[in-house]
Amino acid sequence: MSEADVMETHRICVCVRKRPLNRQEVIRKDIDVVSIPGRGSLLVHEPKQKVDLTKYLENQVFQFDYSFDETATNELVYKFTAKPLVHAAFEGSMATCFAYGQTGSGKTHTMGGDFRGKLQNSTNGIYFLAAQEVFSLLNHRKYSKLNVSPYVSFFEIYNGKVFDLLNEKAKLRVLEDDKQQVQVVGLEEVFVTKTDDVIKLLEMGSACRTSGQTSANANSSRSHAILQVTLRHNDRAASLYSKFSLVDLAGNERGTDVNSNDRNTLVETAEINCSLLALKECIRSLGKNSDHIPFRMSTLTKVLRDSFIGEKSKTCMIAMVSPSMTSCDYTLNTLRYADRVKEL
Ligand code: ADP
Ligand code: MG
Repeated sequence: MSEADVMETHRICVCVRKRPLNRQEVIRKDIDVVSIPGRGSLLVHEPKQKVDLTKYLENQVFQFDYSFDETATNELVYKFTAKPLVHAAFEGSMATCFAYGQTGSGKTHTMGGDFRGKLQNSTNGIYFLAAQEVFSLLNHRKYSKLNVSPYVSFFEIYNGKVFDLLNEKAKLRVLEDDKQQVQVVGLEEVFVTKTDDVIKLLEMGSACRTSGQTSANANSSRSHAILQVTLRHNDRAASLYSKFSLVDLAGNERGTDVNSNDRNTLVETAEINCSLLALKECIRSLGKNSDHIPFRMSTLTKVLRDSFIGEKSKTCMIAMVSPSMTSCDYTLNTLRYADRVKEL
């Protein structure tokens, strides 16, 4: 089966990626409870206890379009997930790829958005590989007649508010006009001519993401980061041709962290819960070809409205899981969510 198969026949592709045990997990002798026996399948060996207190492992079985084990490289994951979406965007699709999972499960690693060490991991992450593909397709014979140019936006949604990472974290308003078109008012859109331009913008935006007043207690695990590449016609008043979005979602463990006494944390938790629930509902509606897409449920789904509307929308979700026994409950949560957004 070629990499494009799932995306050619489906509007939704759901995959799972397991990361290796990390150093701390190895040191504390945590064990690996996730196994990937074949393409698409995944087993969680859930620790359980009988009434007589004897312990045993119960297998929970899941099936997705693709499952990537701890030996999979970012290049491999990219090839089966975001790559077909970039191609779809050149065919006029609104294409969206989500990294979903608990904090520390590998979302940012997969996107290649960890710029703390300057360009660390960025040359093989999905951001870089997708940007490279955009420029290679722009020069491709097949698309030379399209006459479109790419523009980049990079923004974050924290507590239901949009902050522009390419404009000093300016807080932006989201408006819907009478044609139901959603606009993020004043969002920077930077014209780019090469992969390096995109990486520089990502570096700039990532630095902005982790500093500044509004982020004092808004670290990246509690906000959604959205990188958008918009293809616009060179003539026709630069009207929209298609859009490609890469979304590094907030850590989903927050959704279950309801015991906190801290008001900020409670508000954050409610907000993340709401947006991830809205996202699930929107993707499910897309899968069912439903007329009613509940995109107004959250800011995240509002700004991604175009991703859920229209015949040619395509979505890929990469659910990230940690292999450790300690994370088993979070892992099962993540897998159940991913299972619900699968196209039936
Ligand atoms: P998240 O963004 O989901 O919170 P990160 O991407 O920051 O998680 O990953 C947490 C840590 O695990 C990082 O140090 C990262 O480099 C490492 N990591 C994640 N996925 C992998 C992987 N597939 N292979 C090797 N290291 C990984
Ligand atoms: Mg992250």
